[in-house]
Amino acid sequence: MVKYPKVQIHKFENLNMKLKLLILLLLPAFVLTAQSDPTPPVAPPAPAAPPVYTGKGKSKSPRTYKLENDGTQFAAGIRADDLKPLVFALASDTMLGRETGEVGQQIAAQFIAKQFKDAGLPPKGDKGYMQKIMLQSATWKDIGIKVGEQEFKNRTDFFVFPAFSPDIPLTEIKELVFIGYGIEDPKYSDYGKAEVAGKAVIFYNGEPISKDGISLITGNEFRSNWSLDWRKKVQLAKKKGATAVFIIDTKFEESLQKNRKAISAYGWKPVGSDPEAIASDYIPSAFVSPALAKAILGDKANKVESELADLREGDKFKPVKVKNKIEFRLDKETKLLEGSNVLAVIEGTDEKLKKEYVFVTAHYDHLGSPDSTVIYYGADDKASGTSGVIEIARAFAEAKKAGVGPKRTVVCMLVSGEEKGLLGSKYYTEFPLFPLEKTVVDINIDMIGRVDERHANNPDYIYVIGSDRLSTQLHEINELVNSEHTKLELDYKYNAKDEPNRYYERSDHYNFAEKGIPAIFFFNGTHPDYHRPTDTADKINFDALAKRAQLAFYVAWETANSPERIQPNVREEKKPIEKGN
Ligand SMILES: [Zn+2]
Repeated sequence: MVKYPKVQIHKFENLNMKLKLLILLLLPAFVLTAQSDPTPPVAPPAPAAPPVYTGKGKSKSPRTYKLENDGTQFAAGIRADDLKPLVFALASDTMLGRETGEVGQQIAAQFIAKQFKDAGLPPKGDKGYMQKIMLQSATWKDIGIKVGEQEFKNRTDFFVFPAFSPDIPLTEIKELVFIGYGIEDPKYSDYGKAEVAGKAVIFYNGEPISKDGISLITGNEFRSNWSLDWRKKVQLAKKKGATAVFIIDTKFEESLQKNRKAISAYGWKPVGSDPEAIASDYIPSAFVSPALAKAILGDKANKVESELADLREGDKFKPVKVKNKIEFRLDKETKLLEGSNVLAVIEGTDEKLKKEYVFVTAHYDHLGSPDSTVIYYGADDKASGTSGVIEIARAFAEAKKAGVGPKRTVVCMLVSGEEKGLLGSKYYTEFPLFPLEKTVVDINIDMIGRVDERHANNPDYIYVIGSDRLSTQLHEINELVNSEHTKLELDYKYNAKDEPNRYYERSDHYNFAEKGIPAIFFFNGTHPDYHRPTDTADKINFDALAKRAQLAFYVAWETANSPERIQPNVREEKKPIEKGN
C-alpha cells in the first residue's frame, strides 16, 4: 500500500469543512473528458473522487444461474504451506526490499515469472511474462518565455507538459502566425494558405463553437478530437514546419489547477516505452494565459479578436501574421526508471467470453534498501498479496488442466511502482495489453497476512473496500461466495466514503476504478510494522492469508464464469457534454 493518500486528510474539523471537501472531491471526472482540456492521456490530472455508492443501483440477484463447477477443489489448493515459502522468498535478504528500478525488484520479477512458468502458463506479456514499464521524471534546468524584454514565468503565465516537450534550450522567434484554433479537418481548415514553416504559430485551445453551441467541426453539440487531444494540433503544426506552438487558454487558471500533476516536473510519471522518441515527436509548445497571448500578439491583438469573431460566425477567416521578438526556453533534464509488471494469463474456455478479462492484482514492489544497514522486507506489504495472487494463478491453471478452466480470461498481474504512487497499475491502465472496455473487474489484494488490533480475537476477517462503489453486483458476489465458502468476517469499516485514511485511493485497483472498471480491494488493516524494516515473514499468519486468498479466488471464479458479466451500475448520473469554450 502506498503510504500517503494523494490528498492527505486528517480529522474533519466540522461538517462544513466536510461538505466543502466533498464538493471538491465530487468535481466529476467526466467533465474533464468532455472539455477541451490539455490533458495528455499518459499524464492525466489528479483524479476526481470515484463515483460513490448511492444505494440506488438495482442489481439482479447474482445467482440466477448455476455454475457447472463451484471451484472448491481448486480453492482448496491455495494452502498455507504453499504460501509460506513464497512469502519467505519474496521477503528475503536476496530481494533487497524489491524497490522499483532496483536489482531486488528485478530478481522478484524473475522469481514470480518462474512461478507462472512452472504452473504451465504461457508468457503473454510484451516481454515474456513481463510488461516493461517506463517511468520518467523530468526537471527543468531552465524554462521560460521572453517577449521583447519581458520575462514570463512557468506555471504563472504559461505551462508545458514535460512528457511532451523536446529538450530545446532555446528557440528564437521573430515571426508568428495566428491560425484560429490550429485545426485542419477535411471540411474545415484554419491554416488555409498560410505559410508557417520556420515560424511559430499561436492559436486557441478547443475548437470553434457557434453561438448556438454547435461545433463548426462536427456540426453538432459534440466536440471533435481536436478539442479532446491538444497534441494533435501540435503535431500538425510540426508537420507544417512550425518551430513552436503557443496555445491560448481562456480558462488558464482552471487548466493550471486541473493539470497541476501532469505539468509538474517532479515525481515519476508513466511514459511510453520510448520516451525520447515521444518527446522528439513534438516541437516546443506552451499553454499561455490571455495576458501572455496579448503580449505575444502585440499590436495585432485587436485584429486577432476580430478575425476570431468572423471565424465563429462562420465567415471567412484569415490567418494573422505577427512580428515580435520571443525567446522560448525548454532546457530539460530527464531521468528514467524501468520496472515491470508480471502477468499470468489463463485464457478463457468459452469462445465468446474469453474476450472478456477478469483481473486479479497485487503489487510486488516495496521500499527497498535505502542503505546497506537496512532492508524493508515488506512481508505483509506485499509479499502476502503477491503470494496470494501467485497461488490464485496456480489454482486457475489447475482448473484449466482439469478441463474446467474459467470461461472468461483471467489475468493475474503483479505490478511494481506501487510504493512510488500506484505507477505500475497506472502504466498498465494507460498502456493496457487487453482492452479496458472488455475488462470486467479488478480484484486487488493488498496486505492480507496479518491480524490487526481490532480483530485480535478473530483472525478470520478481512476488510473489504470499494466493492460497492461501481457495481452492486460485485459487492453481492463477494458476500455470496464468502457465505458459501470462506465464511470470513467482512469488515466494511474502511469502505466508508468519508473514511479519513482514504484506503480506497491507495492501492492499485484505484487506477482500474478510475477507468470505470468495478474493483474490489481486500486488506487486513495496519499494524506497527507497516512500512518499517520489521515487516518480516515470521510475523505472517499463513492460515489467515490462505483463507483471504481463497476468498479472492472465489470472487474471480464467479466473475469469470457467470453467464453475464457484472456491470458498473452505480455510476453517478452522467452530465451532458459541456458546450462552448
Ligand atoms: Zn506500502
